Amino acid sequence: MHTGIEFFPIALIKGYNDDLVPDSNDRIKVFSRIIELKQLGYPVRNPFRALKILKNSEPFACNFGQIAIFLDHKGNVYSCEDSAGQPQREWCDYKAFDPASVFSSKEFKEVRENLKKCNICTLPCMLELSGSLSCRLLALFFESERWV
Ligand code: SF4
Repeated sequence: MHTGIEFFPIALIKGYNDDLVPDSNDRIKVFSRIIELKQLGYPVRNPFRALKILKNSEPFACNFGQIAIFLDHKGNVYSCEDSAGQPQREWCDYKAFDPASVFSSKEFKEVRENLKKCNICTLPCMLELSGSLSCRLLALFFESERWV
């Protein structure tokens, strides 16, 4: 058994970590090397597709708004959060949360579509599931390396 490693650059929190966020040249250098290491058989868990997006700082269609919703320790329900932890769109308290009416609302559909263009972070799981969600889920299911 081996332990896999997933890589992703830190996201910008303006005024807090500006100097630590890698620029596009840093990303090309670092992720080119990580791709080489994966090709050599090192246990890099990010798929090649995601590593290429990270290396080239490519925009991606994020499906977070479609597949997940947050419920925090205070009971607030919201759609994702920015890198500083601020909710992108709050819905309500968990006691008032009615999934059927929220998920079918026009506003939820708008938020879901807007989050596709968010690109604030590069969470490995979200990069992996970016783009056509059904294609990505199907590809994941058939990727044998995922199940070892
Ligand atoms: S890019 Fe990151 S912050 Fe933006 S919606 Fe996707 S997961 Fe959330």
